[in-house]
Amino acid sequence: MDQGCGELLFVNGRIWLAPPQTAEVEALLVRQGRVAAVGELAAVRAVAGAALEVDLQGATLLPGLIDAHCHLLWYGEMQRRWVDLRGASSLAEIQARLRQRLAERPPAPGEWLLGRAFDQDRLPGGRMPTAADLDAVASDVPIVIQRVCCHALVANTRAQALAGVQAPEGLLTEDAMDVVWRVVPPMTAAERVAAAELACREAAAVGFTGAQCIVATAEEVAAFRELARRGALPIHLRLLAGDLALLDPPEAREVVPCRTLKLFADGSLGARTAALSQPYADQPETSGRLLWDPPALRECVRRAHCAGYQVAIHAIGDAAIEAALTAIAAAQAAHPRPGARHRVEHASVLPPHLVDRLATLGVTTVVQPQFTVSDFWTGARLGVERAGWAYPFRTLLRKGVPVAGSTDCPVETLDPFQAIARAVARTVRAERLRVPEAVALFTRGAAYAGFGEEEHGALFPGYQADLLVVPEDPRELRPRRLAALRPELTLVGGRVVHAVGRFRGLG
Ligand SMILES: [Zn+2]
Repeated sequence: MDQGCGELLFVNGRIWLAPPQTAEVEALLVRQGRVAAVGELAAVRAVAGAALEVDLQGATLLPGLIDAHCHLLWYGEMQRRWVDLRGASSLAEIQARLRQRLAERPPAPGEWLLGRAFDQDRLPGGRMPTAADLDAVASDVPIVIQRVCCHALVANTRAQALAGVQAPEGLLTEDAMDVVWRVVPPMTAAERVAAAELACREAAAVGFTGAQCIVATAEEVAAFRELARRGALPIHLRLLAGDLALLDPPEAREVVPCRTLKLFADGSLGARTAALSQPYADQPETSGRLLWDPPALRECVRRAHCAGYQVAIHAIGDAAIEAALTAIAAAQAAHPRPGARHRVEHASVLPPHLVDRLATLGVTTVVQPQFTVSDFWTGARLGVERAGWAYPFRTLLRKGVPVAGSTDCPVETLDPFQAIARAVARTVRAERLRVPEAVALFTRGAAYAGFGEEEHGALFPGYQADLLVVPEDPRELRPRRLAALRPELTLVGGRVVHAVGRFRGLG
């Protein structure tokens, strides 16, 4: 952590306590990591004692934002380990970015140089980079670059030798890539901790004070807990894991809890693997597919439910959402547990009867407003009627379904204000949210999804002092400016984890 828990009295700004409510107060006192008092300036000052007074100079202070579904270790690994080749428009630019990384961080013996997201269609003539192009960067370091779609890679001569393959021009696609990925050394434990720290710090810098983060292995769980043990975890974290064996035993009281089973019911609309009840409009021979037989899914959900865990089911197509809700309903019917807070992740294609079912069951939907722009092909995949059922944020709120916001980073950018702006600026006008509602997806909504709404997601007295200060009031910004908003100050549990500009002195 950057600093111990000081006593801070915030004054002279817009202090927004609990989105979506719009109530503001004149002053807020932070003491021992919590909100100690809020209200009129004179009253709060009277109890502030020797607290350091922070003049907000008209800036807006709001509750810390929470990402209800992200992959921070995956993101941290990408940031630390992979050279980003997105947008490179010439072979020389790809080579220059790789050379720059070699110069900045020379690889240890045995370490590979990895690049991601190149797109030969952006290069003159559309020519694929070759092994020789990469050998020209370095012939003694194994180099692999991956195409933006992740379905093709180019390996240099050294990498091919280590993998025991000889591919024409170094190009490998689909399953043939596995021989290379198998020999790329995994991150060490120390690298994993460093990647986790980097991702959590970036999250704090964009305004996240908490995250619900998906992990794949015991080593990933250990990395976050090691960070916490060192006192270097800047945000609150909860973990979701795909294997019951990775979840905490009931009696455990971990600082970084792992008590949610994350399952996949289907794939994605982009790849036409999301399970629809009717065929894809732009490929009528398929309707995607469920990744589970419904009875097996029901049994898996039942086991986790009965063991006291939360279940989070990735379900994008309407058939997958239906299967997920059927499994959750069966578990609840057999063993009622009103506080289970099971969730459906993404819940993209929601015909009216499934919205009603979500409401009846009280199942949380964890949504990604950034998908509404990235999935520009939704209309083509689904056709007109079903496209109207995609991402019905306002309908969900109106029907009383709990809704939590997330970025799904690194699938989308780690940027809460971009996500908030996209929920506000929907092209489907009927499903637009107002700014306070969109912010609340990432405060109260996400806090509820993570069982934290009694001390996170608002700034009532007694709540954790998780807050951020932004230079302009998000409620007064047009979507473009809203999307570009960045905190100048982020506090987590009363500690300064990010401070720039006029608040730098607090950091
Ligand atoms: Zn995800």
